[in-house]
Amino acid sequence: MKAKSIRQSITISGITLHRGEFATLKLQPIDIGSGIIFYKSGVKIALNYKNVVDTTMATTIGLNGVVIHTIEHLMSAVYSLGITDLLIELDSSEPPILDGSSLEFFKIIQNNGIIEHNINRKIIKIKKEIIIKDDSRFVSISPNNINSGFFIDSTISFSNKAIGIQSFNLEVTPENYLREIAPARTFGFLSEFENLKNRGLALGANYENVIVIGDDKILNTELRFENEFVRHKILDVIGDLSILGYKIDGNYKSFASSHTLNYALIKSILSNPKNYEIEN
Ligand SMILES: [Zn+2]
Repeated sequence: MKAKSIRQSITISGITLHRGEFATLKLQPIDIGSGIIFYKSGVKIALNYKNVVDTTMATTIGLNGVVIHTIEHLMSAVYSLGITDLLIELDSSEPPILDGSSLEFFKIIQNNGIIEHNINRKIIKIKKEIIIKDDSRFVSISPNNINSGFFIDSTISFSNKAIGIQSFNLEVTPENYLREIAPARTFGFLSEFENLKNRGLALGANYENVIVIGDDKILNTELRFENEFVRHKILDVIGDLSILGYKIDGNYKSFASSHTLNYALIKSILSNPKNYEIEN
């Protein structure tokens, strides 16, 4: 598997989910070995776990007072397409939310053209099982025994009957991702909307970009999958774990995953070199 970038610049605009701003995102090719770099207000912020500054409701990176929120949907598409080197310029503090999924990011980048570099994409091979728990919630990663690849098995459980208990598992490949995960949209509860708005969150949320859940029913849309909610959780997991900075070789499992738990998992993996091996 080779390192990859995009063939030419791409511009994507739209409203942002949490801050409700109008954002223009410019994706640009960048030199081999640069990695994923965000650029805003004259500051370059590398996609690196050391630059994660908040994981409440979304994953936020920042450096020198400049922050970028809600990077996970864009990163999920970028990771799944195998893109290793990319400059992401933003005029706002969040990428556009688009339809709440990563489908548009994935398709635009894919249609625009991806170029392969003449070096290999580095792989992080998980060597030890790591579990992060918080009450009944957990996220974990364990070594692959036979097949190599990034395997995800995720379960969620909500008392709201519109969601209930849902599980889904797959191997992350570009084909599986496009078909099974990219279309899955973010979701929110109408009952929590006022509270989020008061905290300065979900200001750009509307019936076009979030699956809105009322008292045990969905208020605004037909689902794209019966278990769209857990699929979106997996979309988020892929975006969050892309912060490792490598193609992942391991088995991820979770119950009620969150950005905070995913970030704790990343830090735990990287805290001890015996937990992993980097392969070229
Ligand atoms: Zn999400």
